[in-house]
Amino acid sequence: MKHGVALVGPPLAICIGLFATGAPISRSIIRIALYLMKFLGFFRLARQITRHGLRIICYHGFAVAEEYKYRSTLFIRDDFFRKRVEYLKRERYPILPLRDALDALAAGRLPPCATVITMDDGWRGVHTVGLPIIRELEIPVTVYVTTYYVENPMPVFTVTVSYLFWRATPQLVHLPRGIGTFDLECEAAKAEEAAQNFGAALPPGDRLEFLKELAVALDISFYDIESQHLFEVMDEQQLRDLAAAGVDIQLHSHRHQWPLYDREMVESEIAENRRFLQRAVSYPLEHFCYPSGVYGLHQAEWLAELGVKSATTIDPGLNYSHTSRFALRRLVDGGPVSDIEFAAEMTGFMELVRLLRRRLRAARDMTARWRVYRDKGRPSSTPTESRP
Ligand SMILES: [Zn+2]
Repeated sequence: MKHGVALVGPPLAICIGLFATGAPISRSIIRIALYLMKFLGFFRLARQITRHGLRIICYHGFAVAEEYKYRSTLFIRDDFFRKRVEYLKRERYPILPLRDALDALAAGRLPPCATVITMDDGWRGVHTVGLPIIRELEIPVTVYVTTYYVENPMPVFTVTVSYLFWRATPQLVHLPRGIGTFDLECEAAKAEEAAQNFGAALPPGDRLEFLKELAVALDISFYDIESQHLFEVMDEQQLRDLAAAGVDIQLHSHRHQWPLYDREMVESEIAENRRFLQRAVSYPLEHFCYPSGVYGLHQAEWLAELGVKSATTIDPGLNYSHTSRFALRRLVDGGPVSDIEFAAEMTGFMELVRLLRRRLRAARDMTARWRVYRDKGRPSSTPTESRP
């Protein structure tokens, strides 16, 4: 195999380089190029090169109605998920429980192209739509659950407000509670921001009332939202059902807030989150997912002291034995990701593209520093910071 890699390596690097330039290319052209790369055998080669990398896929919720038309990454369709799992099985990607995969990664005995499936937030559709599929296909899944709305049952405020504005048809709206009058033709973003800010300061009960008033103002039936249970998270019983079915429930903060430098608040987010989830599960809660993917590497020490053993991000990429357990990378999948793009991620082809992109960026930085040195006759005093 080494000989094969030596022969094919340079052309592969050239082809990947086309993707890695970072030049704006339309998505349809990228997809055609990916089909070409696959046809030429580069996906198979990339899979071989990156076989030691752990693939962690990130999903969010399942659509219980037509929310996938609104946010197709946040709410996937059941047939979409089924198709993905069937692809993983057909292409022989071993799907492991998160805990087992991390242990195997640390011990250096991870099976080639091992894959973990995770889902963020704990949306209700994971129970009503996802669980029957998970059971039927017998796959291990980790669900990271945020618990504020388990404690305060109502549609998740920020997502629902956004949905209401997405669906709004009137042009001129008078937002409730004297927030103001807005022309949605040109001030939709400003109006939504005002509504989001106003509601964020309200206590949970009043926040629900405000949502209803907002729906009236935007001429949308809130009854439909409530009767279909749109944008709700699982309740305690549903979490118990998931745990009883063998789904791994883990931490995602209580309020879906994650300050970078406020250690006290970080500790309270984990403690409250854990306290609620511990009612539904009997095993230790020691794996975490950063809300919205916001994190700092300095937080690894804080998390370790809180008994957390791993933390996932939404930084794209694969995970190796040297990857920090508190900055695990994931492949975010959902409606906008086509089959060929998903295959490009799973085979590791896009991982090689990203690697080359980083190398090119480093080479460009080096050249820029050399030019400063040449022009000024001294080295640059501000070293370029590399992204972790
Ligand atoms: Zn989340």
